[in-house]
Amino acid sequence: MAAPRGGAIAANAATQIAPVVNWHLEPRCNYKCKFCFATFEDVKSLAAPLPGLDALLGVPAALAAAGVVKLTFVGGEPMLHPHIFELVAAAKRAGLCTSMVTNGSRLDAASLLRLRPALDQLAFSVDASDDALHVALGRAVGGRTPGHLAHVRSLWGPARELGFSLKINTVVTKINLADDMSPLIMDLLPDRWKVFQALPVEGQNDGAVDGLLVTDGEFGAYVARHRAALAAAAAAAAASGAPRTKPSAPPAAAGAGAGVEWAGPGAEAGRARRASAPPPLVAEGNDEMRGTYAMLDAFCRRGGGVGQGLWRSFYSNTDGPHAYGPSILDAGAPAAWAAVRDRWSAAGFVQRGGVYDYGQGEAAARELRARWAGAGAAAEAAAGGGAGGGCQQ
Ligand code: SF4
Repeated sequence: MAAPRGGAIAANAATQIAPVVNWHLEPRCNYKCKFCFATFEDVKSLAAPLPGLDALLGVPAALAAAGVVKLTFVGGEPMLHPHIFELVAAAKRAGLCTSMVTNGSRLDAASLLRLRPALDQLAFSVDASDDALHVALGRAVGGRTPGHLAHVRSLWGPARELGFSLKINTVVTKINLADDMSPLIMDLLPDRWKVFQALPVEGQNDGAVDGLLVTDGEFGAYVARHRAALAAAAAAAAASGAPRTKPSAPPAAAGAGAGVEWAGPGAEAGRARRASAPPPLVAEGNDEMRGTYAMLDAFCRRGGGVGQGLWRSFYSNTDGPHAYGPSILDAGAPAAWAAVRDRWSAAGFVQRGGVYDYGQGEAAARELRARWAGAGAAAEAAAGGGAGGGCQQ
C-alpha cells in the first residue's frame, strides 16, 4: 500500500531534504553520447561489492520517510539494471512520485505495460530531429547504430495511451545547435520539454566534451528560437481550427505498442493532455544545473576510495568532481542528506522549475515551492550559496 503523500510533505518540512532525488542506480549504458556527464567511471572503478537487492529495496522507503516526494531513476541507462522493475515498484509502494530518464532502447510494449502501474513519468532523451545528428552525437546503441529517434517515436503513442506523463530531454551541443526541434516537439507534444546546455563535469566527461560545449549566448539563442517557433506553431494551429495536440502515433500503428491498453490511474489524464497547450520548454543552462540536483550514486557500494568504508550515497558536484556523502544505508537518509545539504541550492532548485505537480497535487506543489523558495533564500544568505550537480539525460 502506498504511504500517505501528506506524510512525506510533512517529513520534508522536518528534515529539509530535497523533495526530488535522482537515483543513478545503474552506471552502465549501451549508448556512447560524447557529451555524457553521467559516465560514473569513478564509481565503476571501485572494486567493491554491490549492495544486494534487499538493501536496494529499502532505499525508496527510506527516502519517502525522510520527506522525498519524487524519485527519478537515472543512469547510465536505468533499464539495464537487473532489478529495475522491483525497485520502481518499491518506490511506488513507498508512496513516491516516480520518474525514469531513459534512452528508451530497452523499452518495448511489454516493459511499458509492466512499468506503468508503478511509474508515473517517462523522460526520453532526444537531442535532435534527425538520427544522423544522433549518431554524430553518439546518441545511439554502441554510439553508432542509427534508429534512436524512430524507436522513441514507436514508443511514444503507446506510452501516451498508457497514461505516462511524458518528457523529452535535450542536450544542446555544437553538433545540434542549428537543429530545429520545433516540428518534432509539436508532433510529440511532451508534457515537458527540458533543454540542457552541455555541461562539463570533472571526472565524468573531461576532455571529451570540450569541443561540444556551447556558450551561454548560443544556448540562449537556441532556447529563444525554439520558444518562438513553438508559439508560432501553436498560434497557427489555433487559427486554423486544427487540434493543437495529437499523439505521435496510435498504438495500433506503432510496432512497439500494438495492443497496449491501460485503464488504471493516469489513463484519462494522459489522454486529456493531448488537448492541452503546447509543451512548456524548461531551459537549464550550466548555472541552473550546478548545485540544484540531489543525487544518489550509481552502485551505492562500499567505497575503496572516496567514501571509504561507507555505502556511498548523496553526492553533489559544485565546481569539480562529484563529492560523496555518507551512506544512506548506514547513516539513514536525513543524516546522509545533511552531509551534502550545503552543496545544494534550494533557491536554484525552485528557480529552475524543480517543483511542479509531479502527481503529489497542485496544493502540495505550492506548499513545497513556497517552503523551498523561502528556505533557500535563508540558507543561501547564511551559507553564501550552495551547489550540487545534475544529469543531462
Ligand atoms: S547521456 Fe545517457 S544515454 Fe547517453 S551515454 Fe550518457 S547515460 Fe547513456
